[in-house]
Amino acid sequence: TCKGCNVCVDVCPDGALRTIRQSDEVVESLRRSWAFWEALPETDDRYIKIASMEEGIGVLSSLLLKKANYQSLVGGDGACMGCGEKTVLHLVTSTVHGLVLPKVQERVARIDALIQGLGDKARGLLASDVELDQLETDDSEAVRLPLDRAKQDEVERIVTMIKELRHLRWLYTEGPSGHGRAALGFTNSTGCSSVWASTYPYNPYPFPWVNHLFQDAPSVALGIFEGHMRKMADSFVTVRRAELELTGDYDPARHEAEFADFDWHQFNDDEFALCPPIIAVGGDGAMMDIGFQNLSRLMAAGKPLRVVVLDTQVYSNTGGQACTSGYTGQVSDMAMFGRGQHGKTETRKELSLIALAHRNVYVVQSTQATASHLIGGVLRGLRSKRPAVFLLHSPCPPEHGIADDASARSSRMAVESRAFPVLEFDPDGGPALADCLSLDGNPALEDPWPSYSLSYLDDEGKEQSMELPLTTADWAAAEGRFKKHFRPAKDGDELVLFHEYVAMSAEEREGCKPFIYHVDREQRLSRVEVSVELVQLAEDRLRFWDQLREMAGLQVSSGARGDIEAELEQDFEQRIAALRQEYEGKLAELRDTLPKVVAHRMAEGLLSTGDGSQTVDEVLRKALGTKGLEPINLVGLNGEATFGAPAAAATGAAPAAAPTPAEGAATEPEAATATAVEEAAPETDDDDDFAVEAHIDSARCTSCNECTNLNNKMFAYNDQKQAYVKDPSAGTFQQLVKAAEACPVGIIHPGTPL
Ligand code: SF4
Ligand code: SF4
Ligand code: SF4
Repeated sequence: TCKGCNVCVDVCPDGALRTIRQSDEVVESLRRSWAFWEALPETDDRYIKIASMEEGIGVLSSLLLKKANYQSLVGGDGACMGCGEKTVLHLVTSTVHGLVLPKVQERVARIDALIQGLGDKARGLLASDVELDQLETDDSEAVRLPLDRAKQDEVERIVTMIKELRHLRWLYTEGPSGHGRAALGFTNSTGCSSVWASTYPYNPYPFPWVNHLFQDAPSVALGIFEGHMRKMADSFVTVRRAELELTGDYDPARHEAEFADFDWHQFNDDEFALCPPIIAVGGDGAMMDIGFQNLSRLMAAGKPLRVVVLDTQVYSNTGGQACTSGYTGQVSDMAMFGRGQHGKTETRKELSLIALAHRNVYVVQSTQATASHLIGGVLRGLRSKRPAVFLLHSPCPPEHGIADDASARSSRMAVESRAFPVLEFDPDGGPALADCLSLDGNPALEDPWPSYSLSYLDDEGKEQSMELPLTTADWAAAEGRFKKHFRPAKDGDELVLFHEYVAMSAEEREGCKPFIYHVDREQRLSRVEVSVELVQLAEDRLRFWDQLREMAGLQVSSGARGDIEAELEQDFEQRIAALRQEYEGKLAELRDTLPKVVAHRMAEGLLSTGDGSQTVDEVLRKALGTKGLEPINLVGLNGEATFGAPAAAATGAAPAAAPTPAEGAATEPEAATATAVEEAAPETDDDDDFAVEAHIDSARCTSCNECTNLNNKMFAYNDQKQAYVKDPSAGTFQQLVKAAEACPVGIIHPGTPL
């Protein structure tokens, strides 16, 4: 069912895939290979490098290596070549399967154990009253066993429980479909994802799904959820009842009264994780415009429903009309480019912020280009007992004006240019907004835009490169929907690089024109003028980025910064004044006492040596080493070394490291001062010896992009396209650790925390 979009070829870092012309022989060969692959056993767990599925730690994309996960979405659909919707949906369904299927296997094993245990118990009860010498037999091969009434009732109850468990086991493993219980269910709003999935008999969703009116998917999901959770509650009661029976704790009167009110609110974590999620799926119109009220209702309801929003920024299914999620300047139906108007005039509606404003919703905004972020966010969102909204960037080749193989590239540039920052909001993350919102996964968190290296050939044909920020205009220039906002720059114009122009005031911009560099297929460099609408779009994107950074605690607002600065200044002045006062008081005390003390010590030194041939310094050293003398510890008087360690102080060794005579180094005074200096210095060297720098065993790098996607300032490729740590200080230690966790070949060493 390959459509020849070439996305797989584009994203494969090793160039292992290539396109060939289709022929009958090729198709036959592919079919044979496919049949062989299907006949192979399931992928062994040792190839799935995920340390914690629940926490989303490890090489998360490796879960797609399991056939059962990969085939959570199959071919035969009618989506356009390279449709971004299908890729992100596939990642979501694979993640759900990866999380739920192992839980089902565990549950089936538990049910088997209960059936076995209850059977043994019933058999034991049956024989419990037997006196072997009084066994009654007859000619029909039957044996009559005596059993009191209470035990008969118990055996009957156990038999009923075993029947219920067997039925439950059948539902999990076979069920009416013969494939066992589904891992999830969709309610699908009418839109591309319902249309391309309706290609009977090649339905790509191998799980229950329902398509309803454009705006209704969240409301239908709410209704299905209630019925679904009722059934799940019944199945958990069956298991709980059997467990109580097996341990001998089952009290029908008490427990059946509790089970009558048992619903999903009382599920424990294991039971909750076993519930196949009900996911409402829809595009921009269904979730952000006409169906927005239904989505808001779902979010406000607080029930653990899941929502996937396929964010194509346009009404793709109906021919590309403008949508509130579209970008300023974006050209589409009903937002045309003409004399009076240059594309969409409004700013983009940020559904992530609206979902966040409901304050009880797990929100993940992500893309196919940041697959680890997407899968990790979905895994954590599925664990939440609150609603979870997954807002996923979905490149639409025909409406975005990009090539069929460009989905992943387009998503990557949308993240890097801040057109579509990724984020994760966990309402249970802590009391402050910043505790809940994470912007991890975006490159160069501290900067307006990350930088990239633009390679080109100069006039003499020599390869050159320059570092430039990847701006909103650079992203837009790669998409046909913004094409009318660019034109070749004129030589005589006052041209200013786009990012510099965006940073200028209105007065400074006077007479200037913004431009970006463009490299053509022959790698020749040219300058392209950018429209004023895209400057407005960039301003909007940077404002959104700043707002996110502020909410995530990475940036302080200018108002708050002023207040904090004033507060700190006041505190600083008070501390300085107190220190000055203390210093002057101690100085005065020192002035008063020091001459007397020094004179006293010199006298003692002279008396103890007595030959008059020594210098004052030598006398002082001997005096300091004299047994029984009280040491003079002047540390703290003026912040310098003790009087007892002149050499150490003079050489700049750490004051605290220099031993005073009282610390036991004083029996050999000359040696003591010298040793103090020598011993004090290596301490910091020792610390340095233990520090390990972050590094990568580059020779084993498979160029998978995981680390460079995480932070391309911290990680970069060398000439052999193998990763190395370019600048460990260009990100956080947490990012180093995350990259190490995500590296499929485990060659990133985060080193000692910086
Ligand atoms: S990504 Fe595109 S080219 Fe590659 S196998 Fe799938 S449909 Fe075919
Ligand atoms: S129009 Fe766009 S969103 Fe719809 S199927 Fe085609 S590529 Fe996918
Ligand atoms: S170092 Fe690891 S994560 Fe980074 S590109 Fe190489 S293989 Fe991928």
